Amino acid sequence: MDDTRHDDGIHTIDTHYLRPSFDAAHLVVQDGRAAFVDCGTAHSVPHLLAALTAHGLAPTAVDWLLLTHVHLDHAGGAGQLLQALPNARLAVHPRGAPHMIDPRKLIDASIAVYGAEDYARLYGDLLPIDAARVSPTADGERLALGSRTIEVVHTPGHALHHQAYLDHAAQVVFTGDTFGLAYPPLAVQGRPFALPTTSPTQFDPQQLIASIRRVVALAPRAACLTHYGRIGDIARVGDDLVRMVERFTDAALAVADTAAQDEARVALRSALRAIVLAEWRGFGATGPESLLDEWAGLDFDLNADGLLAWCARRAR
Ligand SMILES: [Zn+2]
Repeated sequence: MDDTRHDDGIHTIDTHYLRPSFDAAHLVVQDGRAAFVDCGTAHSVPHLLAALTAHGLAPTAVDWLLLTHVHLDHAGGAGQLLQALPNARLAVHPRGAPHMIDPRKLIDASIAVYGAEDYARLYGDLLPIDAARVSPTADGERLALGSRTIEVVHTPGHALHHQAYLDHAAQVVFTGDTFGLAYPPLAVQGRPFALPTTSPTQFDPQQLIASIRRVVALAPRAACLTHYGRIGDIARVGDDLVRMVERFTDAALAVADTAAQDEARVALRSALRAIVLAEWRGFGATGPESLLDEWAGLDFDLNADGLLAWCARRAR
């Protein structure tokens, strides 16, 4: 079973988006009630429902789908999942809520990026969600799951519609894309190695650094990342992420002013790869560079795009 059990009622579920151990949803169980944090795509929904069954839970036991943000690898399957969970409500940042109720803009934007064929292959269909089932959540808002309290923590930076969730009972925070990407194969002797995600179109370094520091200040025992799974060593990972965001930003500013856009993109991707490789080596990694490219290669592209988009916004 593609599920990692812990003793605090929090379970990591592989959504099977793109490849194994790349994209997670989390299942929180308390007093026979359940919540999902993020849900992958429409193609992920059968895996999430199978995980419920494996934990002896009926679809009627799910009270919440808690979205960290409305990027499709986190939220694409929300409509299909809610159809299967008759009692569940959707918690989502107020900036993301309209796009879950009427996904037309998300669909159009995704088709513009991927083309209609790849969009369908990657994400399936994006279904609208009845506004009556959607709870736009304020910073600091507390949600009940049985006797457990889950607190909403707005964490802009990766996107303006991003929020994390602090599980008070477990002292675990669900960080979506705010607390970096820690792919399990890049860990060194069991210690997580995380790199920031600065993808388009709303990445903002100051906001992201503030949100990373806010997560660290919550002093959680662990963070549950969408990419991928549960990590500890929060203060150290937070320092690493802040340093890398700063180095990424410096690299972006250095190329943005000096080169044409397509040249800037190639130069920046190369600079980001060099920064992350040096960080990984400095962390003690001895694996081949091809392992870093295999897992983070797509992120070097997306991060370069997001950083250049930020530079362009800044220049205006
Ligand atoms: Zn994202």
